[in-house]
Amino acid sequence: MTVYNFSAGPAMLPGPVLKKAQAELLDWQGRGVSVMEISHRSPEYIAMAEEAEQNLRDLMNIPDNYAVLFMHGGGRNHFSSVPLNIAPADATVDYITTGSWSQIAFDEAKKYVAKVNLAAHSEDTEQGKAIPLVGDWKLTDGAAYVHYCPNETVDGIALHQVPQVKAPLVADMSSVILAEPLDVSKFGVIYAGAQKNIGPSGFSVVIIRKDLLATQQNSVCTVMNYQVQAAERSMYNTPNTWAWYLSGEVFKWLKAEGGVAAMGERNHAKAALLYECIDNNPFYRNQVHPRNRSIMNIPFQLAKPELDPLFLEQAASQGLVALKGHRFVGGMRASMYNAMPMQGARALVDFMTRFAQQHRV
Ligand SMILES: *Cc1c(COP(=O)(O)O)cnc(C)c1O
Repeated sequence: MTVYNFSAGPAMLPGPVLKKAQAELLDWQGRGVSVMEISHRSPEYIAMAEEAEQNLRDLMNIPDNYAVLFMHGGGRNHFSSVPLNIAPADATVDYITTGSWSQIAFDEAKKYVAKVNLAAHSEDTEQGKAIPLVGDWKLTDGAAYVHYCPNETVDGIALHQVPQVKAPLVADMSSVILAEPLDVSKFGVIYAGAQKNIGPSGFSVVIIRKDLLATQQNSVCTVMNYQVQAAERSMYNTPNTWAWYLSGEVFKWLKAEGGVAAMGERNHAKAALLYECIDNNPFYRNQVHPRNRSIMNIPFQLAKPELDPLFLEQAASQGLVALKGHRFVGGMRASMYNAMPMQGARALVDFMTRFAQQHRV
């Protein structure tokens, strides 16, 4: 049976990448050892690491005035590292809280920066949960940065346009990086934990405009110092060598699949299929305003919540796994990152249609 894994993270990885990693596990490049067992300072490791960076640069069309860092600590590391690295302690910074993750980032920033201004937050409207329009955000003149989360993984809420703001724009792209084309030059910092759309957990990618590397607080932990890691090519200390390798394999796979343009088309098509099923079927409901619906993480509720366990059990018996919603939201959630093929989305929609017919409201 084919298993389609709808886990929100750590999430499904492309099958061909896992197969290649398995084949190379005991013997990488004919060296008789695995990529985890060699020095990160060896020429062969550095060549692999640089190729991974170059492939990411190609995929995202990252301009030369941006540094790419491969760091420790996943997504949340940067909830602290962003303020410590790019805002003086006496600064004002603006946060947009659109869901669970940006709320945590907002709370964390208060430890490190004098004034953390809540410039906008998502609210309930008649058409569902919505993010206020950018023109209504209460931004601070002279803020050190504006932080937002373009795709809220738990809540399934997304901002599909890049907001135009004066201060450097910082985006937590943990669950949407590489999902569709993006103009990197509009951002000051993009960061992402790897375990949704890139590779193994605990690893993270930071894309930062180089002029922002100049200001960091003295108290920043050296391992988390963006300037130091940029100068050391992310090898100030030993990086997660396995995660870097596996992420590099995912980047190669993405290129071979047609890059982010192809991914974007596929991701929008998968999401459209599922939203159509939800909207056309009174048995299901999604509670996000149509303009803010995520293409990656799609929460939905059953009209009869008492059937949640049965839904999950029958889905799993047909190879559709990890559909249980986040404990904050309840119901179901289907996460469909780059590795999820169109057939996975179709299989889910077919199952949902049959389940709704059997348990009509
Ligand atoms: C998963 C996730 C995080 C947290 O990542 P960790 O690696 O567990 O720290 C942060 N932000 C977003 C948007 C996420 O989806």
